[in-house]
Amino acid sequence: MAKAVKNATHPAATRDRLVKIYELLDKEHADAKLALDYTNPLELLVALILAAQSHDTLVNQITPALFAKYKTARDYADAPRQEIFEFVKRINFAGIKTGRIQSCCQELVKNFHGEVPKTLDELVTLPGVGRKTGNIVLGNAFGIPAIGVDTHVMRLSQRLGFTKNSNPDKIEFDLTPIVPKEKQIRFCHLLQYHGRRVCIAKKPRCPMCVINHLCPYPDKTKPEELKSRPRKSS
Ligand code: SF4
Repeated sequence: MAKAVKNATHPAATRDRLVKIYELLDKEHADAKLALDYTNPLELLVALILAAQSHDTLVNQITPALFAKYKTARDYADAPRQEIFEFVKRINFAGIKTGRIQSCCQELVKNFHGEVPKTLDELVTLPGVGRKTGNIVLGNAFGIPAIGVDTHVMRLSQRLGFTKNSNPDKIEFDLTPIVPKEKQIRFCHLLQYHGRRVCIAKKPRCPMCVINHLCPYPDKTKPEELKSRPRKSS
């Protein structure tokens, strides 16, 4: 089966395999969603800036008080920087991230009437916002099909043979034509959950993986190497 998967490089075969993988993961991780808590586009944008190289759980601990204090882009833009810092100081690179949040919100006030824009071209003009963040905002805040390549999407796309690239922007360009538009947002959530629960970086749980038969590396971890491991640990 592994050989057959490795030989299935025709774009139509790749798309077909991807959709099968999507359907299996959709059942396996029915609860998959973006791990960050937010209630509007601005909150998501701020949470994503905070989440860079940090755990989502810590971001979710910090943001309720932050979001209660600052409700608009102008609130962040006009606040003393030290005041914002006090809310986020438990996160790594707190000073840099505070600066990015404030610069980003000042730009929103200056150029976008304080609203988070709905196009990637506009989003990436904001300080601290690259294609990954912009696409995650588009997909999750606005429901616009987009592929945000975070660490899990990157790693699993490589492992599943959907890309040979390691640059996130190039991976996005590889994935966009083969992931059906209506599946793009959830596809990212599913790869994130599968990457956390089963296809973990150091020792993927291949023997208990529901897409084992569709993966080019079904034997990356042998059953005897997993004897004491539980199935899920998210
Ligand atoms: S078979 Fe192994 S390497 Fe392939 S997706 Fe599943 S856990 Fe990851």
